[in-house]
Amino acid sequence: MTSFDFSPELNRYLEKIQAETGREITFQENTNLGIKGITAAYQYHPQKLIIILNPEYHRAKEDVERSIAHEATHGYILYKMGFCRSKYGEGVPSDYKRDVQIIFTIVEDLVVNKIIADHGFAPFGHEYLPTLRKEIRVAQEGEEAGEAFYHQFTENLHREALLMVSRYIIAWGFLRYYTLKNEEEELIREFTQVFGKYYPDYYQYAAQVVEIIQEKDIFKSDDECRAIQEILRLFKMDANVELVKTNQSQRIPSL
Ligand SMILES: [Zn+2]
Repeated sequence: MTSFDFSPELNRYLEKIQAETGREITFQENTNLGIKGITAAYQYHPQKLIIILNPEYHRAKEDVERSIAHEATHGYILYKMGFCRSKYGEGVPSDYKRDVQIIFTIVEDLVVNKIIADHGFAPFGHEYLPTLRKEIRVAQEGEEAGEAFYHQFTENLHREALLMVSRYIIAWGFLRYYTLKNEEEELIREFTQVFGKYYPDYYQYAAQVVEIIQEKDIFKSDDECRAIQEILRLFKMDANVELVKTNQSQRIPSL
């Protein structure tokens, strides 16, 4: 178990998730969550909701709680809303699995952040807007500066590209699905604009991802699965993964 003392709000939310999914939430600790700077992660398990916390990364309590609510909600959409998860054959490299997971996260986070916001948690943590301000300055120095910046978070070049695209999609999602304060909206919009202008190689992918998402209602499981499938195909990553629905444990019809 964790050493945190959760607020009544978080306890209530986690209890609701446990009740509605019929699964117990358990905590584990790990210092390597795949991308540097990540505080918490959700890990798939057929019977439990496992949230992994990074004990080396310290943040304000409110942000840690928001992260925990966020990760628990990944379990909620899987078990309660029937969203898809990834399934692999034998011998599929773990680097590939992590990259596939980023594609899942790109789509799922749009839904997860909306759900936690509807339950009174902030859609983004306190670090988000200051980080975005920095990312705007980096972008204005051009694509190479951008690549060097995101390289800090991963040494894997393919993952770095996915990470950059994901930064755009997260920002786009806040503009698309939320009512924001004016100054928040302006900053987020500015990021999407500089991204489009200064990272043309990445923006062409980001724009296609947006198009795939826009055509669907990703808050519904069938559409969510299809969106992920299409995005995997866009990045030529669909060959070694199968998308399955956990509750029914069945393959989604091929597209
Ligand atoms: Zn997430």
